[in-house]
Amino acid sequence: MAVDLAAEPEVAKLAERTAQFVREVVIPIEEEHGGVVPSEEVRVQLQSAAREAGVFAPHVSPEYGGHGLDMRGRAVVFEEAGYSLLGPLALNIAAPDEGNMHMLEVIATEEQKRRYLAPLAAGEIRSCFAMTEPAPGAGSDPDALRTRATRVPGGWRIDGKKWFITGADGAAFAIVMARTAGEPGDRGGATMFLVDADNPGMHIGRHIPTLDESLYAGHLEVTFDNCVVGDEAVLGEVDQGYRYAQVRLGPARMTHCMRWLGIARRAQDIAVGWAAKRHVFGSRLADLGMAQQMIADNEIDIRASRALIMQACWELDQGQTAGTSVSVAKTFTSEAVFRVVDRALQLCGSLGVSGDVLLGRFLREVRPFRIYDGPSETHRWSIARRVVGRHVAATTGEKA
Ligand SMILES: Cc1cc2nc3c(=O)[nH]c(=O)nc-3n(C[C@H](O)[C@H](O)[C@H](O)COP(=O)(O)OP(=O)(O)OC[C@H]3O[C@@H](n4cnc5c(N)ncnc54)[C@H](O)[C@@H]3O)c2cc1C
Repeated sequence: MAVDLAAEPEVAKLAERTAQFVREVVIPIEEEHGGVVPSEEVRVQLQSAAREAGVFAPHVSPEYGGHGLDMRGRAVVFEEAGYSLLGPLALNIAAPDEGNMHMLEVIATEEQKRRYLAPLAAGEIRSCFAMTEPAPGAGSDPDALRTRATRVPGGWRIDGKKWFITGADGAAFAIVMARTAGEPGDRGGATMFLVDADNPGMHIGRHIPTLDESLYAGHLEVTFDNCVVGDEAVLGEVDQGYRYAQVRLGPARMTHCMRWLGIARRAQDIAVGWAAKRHVFGSRLADLGMAQQMIADNEIDIRASRALIMQACWELDQGQTAGTSVSVAKTFTSEAVFRVVDRALQLCGSLGVSGDVLLGRFLREVRPFRIYDGPSETHRWSIARRVVGRHVAATTGEKA
C-alpha cells in the first residue's frame, strides 16, 4: 500500500508562509529580546504582524477566524512556527491558550464559545489552565485532586490551591479542575469550571522562578478561596472533568511536541551552519567523525520525532483517543529535542554557551517538557501497562 505523507497543498502553502513569516519578522524580534517576550506590547505587535501575513490562529475553525487545520495539518504548520521561541505566541498557538481553544471548540456551549473562545481566538484576551496543585495534591497523578467545588444555590463554590499555572498573570479567565465528588485519591469525580479572573475569590499569587522563561507570563500560584461561580461556568458535564481533560491533553501533548520540534530543527541548523565553516585540526568540523555522529544523531532524532507525532496525529484525526501513540510520541520527542539541542550546543563549543546564539536559552526551554504534559516516567508506566494488558488479553482472554 502506498503511503502518502505529503501535506495537502493548502496546508503546505500555509506552512511555507509561516516559515517565511518566522524567518523575516519573528526571529529578528526574538534575537533582540533573547527569546523572551518582554511586554504585552510586543505580544500584540507580533500577533498583528501574523494576522497581516495571513498565518494567525491556524488551528481554530474559520468561524473563529482560523484555518481549521486538523492535527496532521497542525503538525506541519506548528513545527514551522516553533522554529522561533516567539513564533507560537505570534500565531496565537502557544500553550496554554492553544489547548484551551481546542477544548472550548469541542465541548463548550454556544454561549461559552461566544464569551470565551471568540475573544481568545482573536488574541484579544489570554487564558490559563489550572489543574496542578502543590503536594500532596494533583500532579502526575490527577486523582490526587484536592481543590473542591461545593454546591451552593445557583452554582458552585471553589476552594483550593494551584501552582505552576502558566500565563495566569494577565489571563482573562481560568479553566479550573475541581473535585465535585469523592475524596483525594479516588478515581473520577472532577469537573471543569470557567472562572473569570475578576472573580473576587480567585487570587493570583507569586511568579514561580523557573529554568524556562519563554512561555508568556510565566508560571504562577493561584488560590481559589470562596470562589463562587454560576451553573453556567461548568464546562461540559459535572463529574466528567477527567474525560474532558483527555480532549485537551492528547492533542495538547502533540502540539507541544510540534512546537519544540521546530526549536530542535533550528538548533540543528545553527550547529550545522557552524560545523560547515569552523576549521579545527586542519579539517572542517563537519568532516570529523565524532561531529558527524552528532549531526547524524540529531537528524535521526528529528525525523523519528516527526514520524511519531504524525502517527499519533493521524489516530487523533480518526477520532481515536490514541493513548499509547500520544505517550510514545510525547516521551520520545521531549527527550529527543533535549538531546538535539544539547548536541548542537556541544558542536558550537564556547559559541554555543554564549549569548551570541540562542542555544543556551533553547536548552533551558526544552528541559521542562520532560515533566509537564506528563513526566516521561508516567508515560512509560502507562505504555507498559497497556502493552502488558494487551498481552494478557491476547493470551488468556482475561482483562488485565
Ligand atoms: C514549565 C511548566 C509549566 C506548567 N504549566 C502548567 C499549567 O499551565 N497548568 C497546570 O495545571 N500544570 C502545569 N504544570 C504542571 C505539570 O503538569 C506537572 O509538573 C506535572 O503534571 C507533574 O506533576 P508534579 O510536578 O506534581 O510532579 P509529581 O507528580 O510530584 O512527580 C514527580 C516525579 O515523579 C516521577 N513519576 C511520576 N509518575 C511516575 C510513575 N508512574 N513511576 C515512576 N516515577 C513517576 C517523575 O519523575 C516525576 O517527574 C507545569 C509544569 C511545568 C514544569
